[in-house]
Amino acid sequence: MCVSLVVESPFASFEELERAALACTKCPLATQGRSQVVFGDGDPAADLVFVGEGPGAEEDKQGIPFVGRAGRLLTGLIADIGLRRDEVYIANVVKCRPPGNRDPLPDEIEACRPYLEGQLGFIDPAVVVTLGNFATKLLLETKDGITKLRGREFPFRQRGVLIPTLHPSAVLRSGGTALAQARADFVRVKRALRRVSAERAPAEGASA
Ligand code: URA
Ligand code: SF4
Repeated sequence: MCVSLVVESPFASFEELERAALACTKCPLATQGRSQVVFGDGDPAADLVFVGEGPGAEEDKQGIPFVGRAGRLLTGLIADIGLRRDEVYIANVVKCRPPGNRDPLPDEIEACRPYLEGQLGFIDPAVVVTLGNFATKLLLETKDGITKLRGREFPFRQRGVLIPTLHPSAVLRSGGTALAQARADFVRVKRALRRVSAERAPAEGASA
């Protein structure tokens, strides 16, 4: 069963994928002021994966995604559904900080895509939560905006689901209602996680 998870990846292991990403110079973000590549954080065997947009200043400094203000909010929302950060996996669409926190450009997103695809391929999560428009548009291959899609459940790859929610930075900007919406979305995430993990358990020998 597990062998099928790696066949599409050009990387032999998660560690090899990480090594390649950490040395990457494939797009202009490599030379636009990044101090390091921010690959991802958490448990590479997690059932739940969060995908943000790209590192900000604090992430660039520490080499860890979602450790600034938005990160503290995300960590709190994760705690509210009974999980710790080290029990989930957190990554971004682009692994290097766009200068001045500008939006990542289409070519940069495309160049970086194999790393995110590789992460999702190896981890094979039950539930993927896309944070904001960039991750949602990329992984759902949709042009619809986050306000329309948030909190809904979509099939993801072979046997997972994807749930878009608001980006924590947007929640910080918009306040009350957005926070309530994000909390409601996370409750759906918790339910989906329980359900999909249970559905998948028989196929995963060890946990059956
Ligand atoms: N915003 C993101 O999208 N990702 C981070 O890692 C931090 C802030
Ligand atoms: Fe490589 Fe992605 Fe960084 Fe661009 S953003 S240099 S593709 S790791």
